Amino acid sequence: MGNKRKVIIIGSGPAGLTAALYCARANLEPLVFEGIQPGGQLTITTDVENYPGFPDGIMGPELMDLFRKQAQRFGAETKFNHVDEVDFSKRPFKISSGTEDFISDTVIISTGASAKLLGLDTESKLMGHGVSACATCDGFFFKDKKVLVVGGGDSAMEEATFLTKFASSVSIIHRRDEFRASKIMQERALNNPKIDVIWNTAVLDMIGDPKNSGLTGVRIQNLITGTNSEIDCDGLFLAIGHKPNSDIFVNKLDMDNKGYIITQPDSTQTSVKGIFAAGDIQDTVYRQAVTAAGSGCMAAIEAERYIESYS
Ligand code: NAP
Repeated sequence: MGNKRKVIIIGSGPAGLTAALYCARANLEPLVFEGIQPGGQLTITTDVENYPGFPDGIMGPELMDLFRKQAQRFGAETKFNHVDEVDFSKRPFKISSGTEDFISDTVIISTGASAKLLGLDTESKLMGHGVSACATCDGFFFKDKKVLVVGGGDSAMEEATFLTKFASSVSIIHRRDEFRASKIMQERALNNPKIDVIWNTAVLDMIGDPKNSGLTGVRIQNLITGTNSEIDCDGLFLAIGHKPNSDIFVNKLDMDNKGYIITQPDSTQTSVKGIFAAGDIQDTVYRQAVTAAGSGCMAAIEAERYIESYS
Protein backbone atom coordinates (compact mmCIF):
# COMPACT_ATOMS: atom_id res chain seq x y z
CA MET A 1 0.00 0.00 0.00
CA GLY A 2 2.96 2.37 0.57
CA ASN A 3 2.41 5.78 2.03
CA LYS A 4 -1.05 6.44 0.53
CA ARG A 5 -3.81 4.87 2.60
CA LYS A 6 -7.57 4.70 2.94
CA VAL A 7 -7.43 4.56 6.75
CA ILE A 8 -4.69 5.43 9.19
CA ILE A 9 -5.25 4.61 12.85
CA ILE A 10 -3.23 6.48 15.45
CA GLY A 11 -2.98 4.53 18.72
CA SER A 12 -3.08 0.82 19.53
CA GLY A 13 -5.18 0.24 22.64
CA PRO A 14 -8.52 -1.59 22.51
CA ALA A 15 -10.12 1.22 20.46
CA GLY A 16 -7.37 1.42 17.82
CA LEU A 17 -6.90 -2.31 17.37
CA THR A 18 -10.65 -2.96 17.20
CA ALA A 19 -10.93 -0.23 14.57
CA ALA A 20 -8.03 -1.95 12.76
CA LEU A 21 -9.80 -5.33 12.85
CA TYR A 22 -13.04 -3.92 11.43
CA CYS A 23 -11.26 -1.82 8.79
CA ALA A 24 -9.13 -4.79 7.75
CA ARG A 25 -12.20 -7.02 7.39
CA ALA A 26 -13.76 -4.28 5.23
CA ASN A 27 -10.70 -4.48 2.92
CA LEU A 28 -9.56 -0.98 3.84
CA GLU A 29 -6.00 -2.22 4.55
CA PRO A 30 -5.51 0.01 7.60
CA LEU A 31 -2.15 1.16 8.88
CA VAL A 32 -1.85 1.46 12.68
CA PHE A 33 0.73 3.68 14.33
CA GLU A 34 1.19 1.96 17.66
CA GLY A 35 2.78 4.94 19.42
CA ILE A 36 4.95 5.10 22.51
CA GLN A 37 2.88 2.62 24.53
CA PRO A 38 1.95 -0.16 22.09
CA GLY A 39 -1.21 -1.84 23.36
CA GLY A 40 -2.15 1.16 25.47
CA GLN A 41 -3.02 1.40 29.16
CA LEU A 42 -3.87 -2.31 29.55
CA THR A 43 -0.22 -3.17 29.05
CA ILE A 44 0.56 -1.62 32.46
CA THR A 45 -2.10 -3.61 34.31
CA THR A 46 -1.82 -7.21 35.39
CA ASP A 47 -4.94 -9.40 35.43
CA VAL A 48 -7.92 -8.14 33.39
CA GLU A 49 -11.00 -9.83 34.80
CA ASN A 50 -13.76 -7.70 33.31
CA TYR A 51 -13.15 -8.13 29.59
CA PRO A 52 -15.96 -10.39 28.36
CA GLY A 53 -14.96 -13.72 26.86
CA PHE A 54 -12.19 -14.48 29.36
CA PRO A 55 -13.91 -16.20 32.29
CA ASP A 56 -10.58 -16.91 34.02
CA GLY A 57 -9.20 -13.41 33.35
CA ILE A 58 -6.25 -12.58 31.15
CA MET A 59 -3.07 -10.57 31.58
CA GLY A 60 -3.38 -7.07 30.06
CA PRO A 61 -0.34 -7.36 27.72
CA GLU A 62 -1.51 -10.79 26.51
CA LEU A 63 -4.99 -9.45 25.76
CA MET A 64 -3.53 -6.67 23.67
CA ASP A 65 -1.28 -9.13 21.78
CA LEU A 66 -4.42 -11.07 20.90
CA PHE A 67 -6.16 -7.88 19.71
CA ARG A 68 -3.13 -7.11 17.51
CA LYS A 69 -2.88 -10.65 16.08
CA GLN A 70 -6.59 -10.69 15.25
CA ALA A 71 -6.32 -7.38 13.35
CA GLN A 72 -3.14 -8.53 11.55
CA ARG A 73 -4.78 -11.80 10.52
CA PHE A 74 -7.11 -9.79 8.26
CA GLY A 75 -4.35 -7.62 6.83
CA ALA A 76 -3.98 -4.69 9.24
CA GLU A 77 -0.44 -3.33 9.16
CA THR A 78 1.00 -2.16 12.46
CA LYS A 79 4.05 0.03 12.92
CA PHE A 80 5.80 0.61 16.24
CA ASN A 81 6.11 4.27 15.31
CA HIS A 82 4.93 7.47 16.88
CA VAL A 83 3.05 10.17 14.97
CA ASP A 84 4.71 13.57 15.43
CA GLU A 85 2.48 15.82 13.36
CA VAL A 86 -0.79 15.82 11.45
CA ASP A 87 -2.26 18.09 8.81
CA PHE A 88 -6.06 17.88 8.74
CA SER A 89 -6.55 21.13 6.82
CA LYS A 90 -7.25 19.36 3.52
CA ARG A 91 -8.16 15.91 2.26
CA PRO A 92 -6.35 13.55 1.90
CA PHE A 93 -4.93 14.14 5.35
CA LYS A 94 -1.20 14.13 6.09
CA ILE A 95 0.39 12.20 8.95
CA SER A 96 4.09 12.57 9.71
CA SER A 97 6.16 10.05 11.64
CA GLY A 98 9.85 10.80 11.96
CA THR A 99 11.11 11.61 8.47
CA GLU A 100 8.22 9.82 6.71
CA ASP A 101 4.96 11.37 5.51
CA PHE A 102 1.76 9.41 4.88
CA ILE A 103 -1.51 10.50 3.36
CA SER A 104 -4.90 9.02 4.07
CA ASP A 105 -8.56 9.46 3.13
CA THR A 106 -9.63 9.01 6.76
CA VAL A 107 -7.93 8.97 10.15
CA ILE A 108 -9.09 7.25 13.32
CA ILE A 109 -7.59 8.76 16.46
CA SER A 110 -7.34 6.37 19.40
CA THR A 111 -4.42 7.80 21.32
CA GLY A 112 -6.10 7.25 24.69
CA ALA A 113 -5.59 8.99 27.98
CA SER A 114 -3.00 8.50 30.65
CA ALA A 115 -3.77 8.42 34.34
CA LYS A 116 -1.96 11.25 36.07
CA LEU A 117 0.66 9.97 38.47
CA LEU A 118 2.46 11.62 41.36
CA GLY A 119 5.83 11.18 39.65
CA LEU A 120 7.61 9.28 42.45
CA ASP A 121 10.28 6.67 41.55
CA THR A 122 8.74 4.17 43.95
CA GLU A 123 5.33 4.71 42.33
CA SER A 124 6.48 3.38 38.94
CA LYS A 125 8.32 0.46 40.62
CA LEU A 126 5.24 -0.56 42.64
CA MET A 127 2.67 0.02 39.86
CA GLY A 128 0.77 -3.28 39.55
CA HIS A 129 2.25 -4.41 42.89
CA GLY A 130 -0.14 -2.66 45.24
CA VAL A 131 -0.24 0.67 43.40
CA SER A 132 -2.95 1.18 40.80
CA ALA A 133 -4.69 3.96 38.90
CA CYS A 134 -7.89 1.98 38.30
CA ALA A 135 -10.13 0.70 41.09
CA THR A 136 -12.55 -0.92 38.63
CA CYS A 137 -9.64 -2.96 37.23
CA ASP A 138 -7.78 -3.86 40.41
CA GLY A 139 -10.14 -3.36 43.38
CA PHE A 140 -11.05 -7.02 43.49
CA PHE A 141 -7.49 -7.96 44.51
CA PHE A 142 -7.84 -6.05 47.78
CA LYS A 143 -10.42 -8.17 49.57
CA ASP A 144 -10.23 -7.46 53.34
CA LYS A 145 -7.15 -5.27 52.82
CA LYS A 146 -6.38 -1.74 53.90
CA VAL A 147 -6.23 0.67 50.98
CA LEU A 148 -5.60 4.35 50.37
CA VAL A 149 -7.03 6.57 47.65
CA VAL A 150 -5.25 9.80 46.63
CA GLY A 151 -7.35 12.66 45.26
CA GLY A 152 -10.31 14.85 46.06
CA GLY A 153 -12.42 14.84 42.90
CA ASP A 154 -15.36 12.70 41.75
CA SER A 155 -13.01 9.90 40.69
CA ALA A 156 -11.51 9.67 44.18
CA MET A 157 -14.99 9.55 45.76
CA GLU A 158 -16.21 6.99 43.26
CA GLU A 159 -13.12 4.79 43.57
CA ALA A 160 -13.13 4.99 47.39
CA THR A 161 -16.82 4.04 47.52
CA PHE A 162 -16.29 1.20 45.03
CA LEU A 163 -13.30 -0.12 46.99
CA THR A 164 -15.38 -0.50 50.17
CA LYS A 165 -17.00 -3.51 48.48
CA PHE A 166 -13.71 -5.34 48.90
CA ALA A 167 -11.36 -3.56 51.29
CA SER A 168 -11.62 -3.65 55.08
CA SER A 169 -10.92 0.09 55.24
CA VAL A 170 -10.37 2.93 52.77
CA SER A 171 -8.58 6.19 53.62
CA ILE A 172 -8.77 9.09 51.20
CA ILE A 173 -5.63 11.22 51.25
CA HIS A 174 -6.27 14.74 50.01
CA ARG A 175 -3.88 17.68 49.74
CA ARG A 176 -6.43 20.31 50.83
CA ASP A 177 -9.11 20.64 53.53
CA GLU A 178 -12.04 20.35 51.12
CA PHE A 179 -12.95 18.15 48.20
CA ARG A 180 -13.63 19.42 44.69
CA ALA A 181 -15.97 16.46 44.10
CA SER A 182 -19.71 17.05 43.64
CA LYS A 183 -21.75 17.24 46.87
CA ILE A 184 -23.59 14.02 46.24
CA MET A 185 -20.41 12.00 45.56
CA GLN A 186 -18.74 13.52 48.65
CA GLU A 187 -21.70 12.67 50.85
CA ARG A 188 -21.81 9.13 49.57
CA ALA A 189 -18.13 8.68 50.46
CA LEU A 190 -18.20 10.55 53.76
CA ASN A 191 -21.29 8.66 54.97
CA ASN A 192 -19.66 5.31 54.27
CA PRO A 193 -18.48 3.84 57.60
CA LYS A 194 -15.51 2.12 55.94
CA ILE A 195 -14.12 5.44 54.61
CA ASP A 196 -12.09 8.02 56.50
CA VAL A 197 -10.25 11.09 55.19
CA ILE A 198 -6.69 12.24 55.83
CA TRP A 199 -6.89 15.98 55.01
CA ASN A 200 -4.12 18.44 54.06
CA THR A 201 -1.73 15.62 53.31
CA ALA A 202 0.66 14.73 50.51
CA VAL A 203 2.17 11.35 49.68
CA LEU A 204 5.95 11.70 49.79
CA ASP A 205 6.97 8.14 49.05
CA MET A 206 5.72 4.60 48.68
CA ILE A 207 7.24 1.75 50.67
CA GLY A 208 7.54 -1.89 49.60
CA ASP A 209 9.36 -4.38 47.43
CA PRO A 210 7.79 -5.10 44.02
CA LYS A 211 9.38 -8.58 43.89
CA ASN A 212 8.32 -9.60 47.37
CA SER A 213 5.65 -8.01 49.53
CA GLY A 214 4.44 -5.34 47.10
CA LEU A 215 3.33 -2.07 48.67
CA THR A 216 3.35 -2.14 52.47
CA GLY A 217 2.94 1.54 53.35
CA VAL A 218 3.38 5.16 52.39
CA ARG A 219 5.30 8.09 53.78
CA ILE A 220 3.06 11.15 54.08
CA GLN A 221 3.41 14.78 55.06
CA ASN A 222 0.86 16.95 56.79
CA LEU A 223 0.98 20.13 54.70
CA ILE A 224 -0.17 22.38 57.57
CA THR A 225 2.27 21.22 60.25
CA GLY A 226 5.02 19.88 57.96
CA THR A 227 5.09 16.67 60.03
CA ASN A 228 6.10 13.48 58.23
CA SER A 229 4.78 10.07 59.17
CA GLU A 230 4.24 6.57 57.78
CA ILE A 231 1.07 4.58 57.45
CA ASP A 232 0.72 0.89 56.67
CA CYS A 233 -1.44 -0.17 53.75
CA ASP A 234 -1.80 -2.96 51.21
CA GLY A 235 -2.97 -0.88 48.27
CA LEU A 236 -2.86 2.68 47.00
CA PHE A 237 -5.14 3.97 44.26
CA LEU A 238 -4.28 7.16 42.41
CA ALA A 239 -7.36 9.15 41.43
CA ILE A 240 -5.82 12.49 40.59
CA GLY A 241 -7.26 12.77 37.10
CA HIS A 242 -6.44 11.65 33.58
CA LYS A 243 -4.72 13.47 30.75
CA PRO A 244 -5.93 12.82 27.20
CA ASN A 245 -3.07 12.23 24.76
CA SER A 246 -4.20 14.93 22.37
CA ASP A 247 -1.28 17.38 22.22
CA ILE A 248 -0.65 16.90 18.48
CA PHE A 249 -4.30 17.67 17.66
CA VAL A 250 -4.48 21.04 19.45
CA ASN A 251 -5.98 23.72 17.14
CA LYS A 252 -6.74 21.00 14.56
CA LEU A 253 -9.84 19.47 16.13
CA ASP A 254 -12.43 20.76 18.60
CA MET A 255 -11.63 19.74 22.17
CA ASP A 256 -13.13 20.39 25.57
CA ASN A 257 -11.26 22.49 28.12
CA LYS A 258 -9.39 19.40 29.39
CA GLY A 259 -8.13 18.38 25.94
CA TYR A 260 -10.59 15.54 25.21
CA ILE A 261 -11.55 15.43 21.52
CA ILE A 262 -15.22 16.26 21.03
CA THR A 263 -17.23 13.80 18.95
CA GLN A 264 -20.80 14.17 17.74
CA PRO A 265 -23.49 12.44 19.84
CA ASP A 266 -23.84 8.70 19.06
CA SER A 267 -20.89 8.97 16.67
CA THR A 268 -17.09 9.07 16.58
CA GLN A 269 -17.12 11.93 14.03
CA THR A 270 -14.89 14.83 15.12
CA SER A 271 -15.11 18.48 14.04
CA VAL A 272 -13.29 17.59 10.78
CA LYS A 273 -15.20 15.34 8.37
CA GLY A 274 -13.28 12.11 7.76
CA ILE A 275 -11.44 12.25 11.10
CA PHE A 276 -12.88 9.98 13.78
CA ALA A 277 -11.97 9.59 17.45
CA ALA A 278 -12.55 6.48 19.54
CA GLY A 279 -11.77 5.28 23.05
CA ASP A 280 -10.45 7.26 26.00
CA ILE A 281 -9.33 10.21 23.85
CA GLN A 282 -13.03 11.16 23.59
CA ASP A 283 -14.49 9.36 26.61
CA THR A 284 -14.64 11.26 29.89
CA VAL A 285 -17.19 8.94 31.45
CA TYR A 286 -16.60 5.17 31.09
CA ARG A 287 -12.91 4.66 30.26
CA GLN A 288 -13.20 0.87 30.05
CA ALA A 289 -11.44 -1.44 27.59
CA VAL A 290 -14.74 -2.83 26.43
CA THR A 291 -16.29 0.59 25.80
CA ALA A 292 -13.12 1.67 23.98
CA ALA A 293 -13.31 -1.43 21.77
CA GLY A 294 -16.97 -0.67 21.05
CA SER A 295 -16.21 2.87 19.97
CA GLY A 296 -13.30 1.59 17.82
CA CYS A 297 -15.80 -0.57 15.98
CA MET A 298 -18.08 2.48 15.52
CA ALA A 299 -15.18 4.53 14.12
CA ALA A 300 -14.29 1.82 11.60
CA ILE A 301 -17.87 1.55 10.35
CA GLU A 302 -18.15 5.34 10.11
CA ALA A 303 -14.80 5.57 8.25
CA GLU A 304 -15.94 2.89 5.80
CA ARG A 305 -19.21 4.75 5.11
CA TYR A 306 -17.34 8.01 4.71
CA ILE A 307 -14.95 6.47 2.14
CA GLU A 308 -17.88 4.93 0.24
CA SER A 309 -19.65 8.28 0.09
CA TYR A 310 -16.58 9.83 -1.56
CA SER A 311 -15.64 7.09 -4.00
P1 NAP B 1 -10.38 16.11 38.97
O1 NAP B 1 -11.77 16.58 39.14
O2 NAP B 1 -9.42 16.90 38.17
O3 NAP B 1 -9.80 15.92 40.45
C1 NAP B 1 -8.47 15.54 40.66
C2 NAP B 1 -8.21 15.56 42.14
O4 NAP B 1 -6.88 15.10 42.34
C3 NAP B 1 -8.34 16.94 42.78
O5 NAP B 1 -8.95 16.84 44.04
C4 NAP B 1 -6.90 17.40 42.91
O6 NAP B 1 -6.64 18.17 44.07
C5 NAP B 1 -6.15 16.08 43.09
N1 NAP B 1 -4.81 16.15 42.54
C6 NAP B 1 -4.45 16.52 41.28
N2 NAP B 1 -3.13 16.44 41.13
C7 NAP B 1 -2.64 16.03 42.33
C8 NAP B 1 -1.35 15.77 42.82
N3 NAP B 1 -0.26 15.90 42.04
N4 NAP B 1 -1.21 15.39 44.11
C9 NAP B 1 -2.30 15.22 44.89
N5 NAP B 1 -3.56 15.45 44.49
C10 NAP B 1 -3.71 15.85 43.22
O7 NAP B 1 -10.31 14.63 38.32
P2 NAP B 1 -11.37 13.42 38.45
O8 NAP B 1 -11.79 13.24 39.85
O9 NAP B 1 -10.71 12.28 37.73
O10 NAP B 1 -12.60 13.90 37.59
C11 NAP B 1 -12.43 14.28 36.22
C12 NAP B 1 -13.79 14.63 35.63
O11 NAP B 1 -14.59 13.45 35.51
C13 NAP B 1 -14.57 15.61 36.50
O12 NAP B 1 -15.28 16.47 35.65
C14 NAP B 1 -15.51 14.72 37.26
O13 NAP B 1 -16.70 15.39 37.66
C15 NAP B 1 -15.80 13.62 36.24
N6 NAP B 1 -16.15 12.38 36.93
C16 NAP B 1 -17.48 12.14 37.17
C17 NAP B 1 -17.86 11.00 37.82
C18 NAP B 1 -19.31 10.74 38.06
O14 NAP B 1 -20.08 11.65 37.97
N7 NAP B 1 -19.70 9.50 38.35
C19 NAP B 1 -16.90 10.09 38.28
C20 NAP B 1 -15.55 10.36 38.03
C21 NAP B 1 -15.19 11.52 37.37
P3 NAP B 1 -7.20 19.69 44.18
O15 NAP B 1 -8.66 19.53 44.45
O16 NAP B 1 -6.44 20.22 45.33
O17 NAP B 1 -6.89 20.33 42.88
